[in-house]
Amino acid sequence: MKITDIQSCIIGREEPHSGGCVWTFVRIYTDEGIIGTGECNSAAAGASGFAVKAAIEAMKPVLIGRNPMDTGPLYELLRRRGRYGGTTNAPLIFAITGIENALYDIAGKALGVPVYQLLGGKYRDQIRLYADLHAGDEETPQAYAAKAAEVVGEEGYTAVKFDVDHTGVGKLDPWNWTVAAKEMNHIIELISATREAIGFDVDLAIDCHGQFDVPSAITLAKAVEDLRLMWLEEPVPAENIDALAQVKASTSTVICSGENQYTRFEFLQLLQRQAVDVIMPDLSKAGGIMEGKRIAEIADAFYVPIAPHNVSSPLGMMAACHVCASVPNFFVLEFHGREIPWWSDLCEGDKPFIRNGTMQLSERPGIGVELNDEVAKSLLWRGDNYFD
Ligand code: MG
Repeated sequence: MKITDIQSCIIGREEPHSGGCVWTFVRIYTDEGIIGTGECNSAAAGASGFAVKAAIEAMKPVLIGRNPMDTGPLYELLRRRGRYGGTTNAPLIFAITGIENALYDIAGKALGVPVYQLLGGKYRDQIRLYADLHAGDEETPQAYAAKAAEVVGEEGYTAVKFDVDHTGVGKLDPWNWTVAAKEMNHIIELISATREAIGFDVDLAIDCHGQFDVPSAITLAKAVEDLRLMWLEEPVPAENIDALAQVKASTSTVICSGENQYTRFEFLQLLQRQAVDVIMPDLSKAGGIMEGKRIAEIADAFYVPIAPHNVSSPLGMMAACHVCASVPNFFVLEFHGREIPWWSDLCEGDKPFIRNGTMQLSERPGIGVELNDEVAKSLLWRGDNYFD
């Protein structure tokens, strides 16, 4: 089998509280008629979607005529031949991730097996999810508590997450990463009220989006220790691993990071320098399906669980589920699409995709989810063209 063509297009809308909802999809065509589709992150703004699309176009000549079943060598070929040009960094690694996902979709379809089977088999069928929540316009402790209780009670989630970095209360100024007394007090009240509403049998994570400095992060982490968080996410910006390690060393609150790290090499750094208790690679941009499994297995050797970041469509999310199913140390997967009315309609597969706070792993050949062409065409991003 040979690769005959590669096309990409950008689909989605920037919905509120969605984490982005603009994605770049890759289709790889073969001389045997098998077509694979992969998804990669467009990093919310959509602008980088066109950078990713251009990168995919630039990689196309390297892949035409190759055997798509050579998923490993083709991934390493793309990554290594452009290392000096940044292929292990964003946004080029996003493009490689989408291509790698499409290759796995082809390999699974050609062999008649779901992708998890190509990764050595599955440890589980149900992928546990946490709901990423927003209280709405009101950033009050009562609103956070009510939203958490509603979603846990009505939708069956056993884990939820809230953001606390843009509450609009007590912020010194837009540039300052120091949390002064009024803002700190408000953040702690938000977390306490939420914990009180859902109790200690439901996991609660808190995301800081790398918006705090080291003293603020340490004060917050220590102040909420008795609230037993599932984790405190990106308490400081992602670039300085030693600063993160300093926060982790100061507290018993579980520290999680990784949605802005790529490939096994960056996760090895996070783990070796003891900067995290939990890692959360975004499997739609960290390198690919097999790279995600490598990252998870390195983490497992450090007895660290993996809780992937996820703002993908059902297709990219199912690709992530194959990774989550194929490693022992999977903890929980993010779900960010609850409030997107067309999220499920965009794709075909075994529906409903989400049930009782879990995603059922697909048993179909390949990734097991396809774009609905009609819906996808209606959601093309800024006049982009659909696949031929
Ligand atoms: Mg985050």
